[in-house]
Amino acid sequence: MTTFKDILDSIKAYDTIIIHRHMKPDPDALGSQVGLKEIIQANFPQKTVKVTGYDEPTLDWLAQMDVVADDDYKGALVIVVDTANRPRIDDSRYSTGDFLIKIDHHPDEDFYGDLSYVDTTASSASEIITDFALQNQLELTSQAARLLYAGIIGDTGRFLYPATTSKTLIIASKLLKYDFDFAALARQMDSFPYKIAKLLAYVFEHLDIDDQGAARVVLSQEVLKTFELTDAETSAIVSAPGKIETVRVWAIFVEQPDGHYRVRLRSKTAVINEVAKRHAGGGHPLASGANSYSLAENDQIYQELQDLLKASK
Ligand code: AMP
Repeated sequence: MTTFKDILDSIKAYDTIIIHRHMKPDPDALGSQVGLKEIIQANFPQKTVKVTGYDEPTLDWLAQMDVVADDDYKGALVIVVDTANRPRIDDSRYSTGDFLIKIDHHPDEDFYGDLSYVDTTASSASEIITDFALQNQLELTSQAARLLYAGIIGDTGRFLYPATTSKTLIIASKLLKYDFDFAALARQMDSFPYKIAKLLAYVFEHLDIDDQGAARVVLSQEVLKTFELTDAETSAIVSAPGKIETVRVWAIFVEQPDGHYRVRLRSKTAVINEVAKRHAGGGHPLASGANSYSLAENDQIYQELQDLLKASK
């Protein structure tokens, strides 16, 4: 069992540390990744610490990536945060370093790394990184606190989802002691461009809800073009169907340029990640992602959600 001390010992042993996270990053992926970079830099200023991956434009207000050369990986420690399975790691060079550490809170479907620290009881990877810093008495900067707080409120829906524990709240309260504008951050994360408001109207208008409370909506490429949206921007509406009292599980099928569908699955209580796993995906019990390759497969996924509700009635 890997401990926080093992991770700290590895960090101490390397001069160059490169931190990765998952593709299509969310605030927890970026917050834990760049928050960890800030912590290492503040405590070990002589080390070179870099973050890599696609710079997601909708989250550029939160953090930016570094330029990382292939040569930087020579003799480097690589840490991958918030990423359950290897194909989802952003930047495939993660395996070209000297030593690899996985730090995650998703179910451990794909065991990788020379060291692996996985805590599925943690609300977020940012909660784990904060805990790591606090338990090792490492200095936290205000910027690190801001990033990690963003990750925690991102993954817990501002302490709404059941993954929120008393430990989450204790850790969040410790982060709030640092000097950053948490209200402005929460406001930023809770507001969206006007075109998203129009998309929300579309989603509520076109949502198909059955008697059991299984809901679905398809966002075709045509719809995305009409609303001038990228796939990443649709993340702002993923939780919306759950606001409807009768909705218990929901699937949002986002058509990709190649014609396949990215499926975003959410649930209030029924466990849905097994459905995701059957369709080239995975994730948390109540928040998963999958891939569908036809309209028939979309129907099949919706049917599986309906069956799940019937079984859990
Ligand atoms: P999303 O709907 O993309 O926000 O994803 C919700 C959750 O499901 C996140 O925790 C993701 O890590 C996970 N997830 C999304 N897509 C996949 C996938 N293709 N494979 C495994 N896990 C996924």
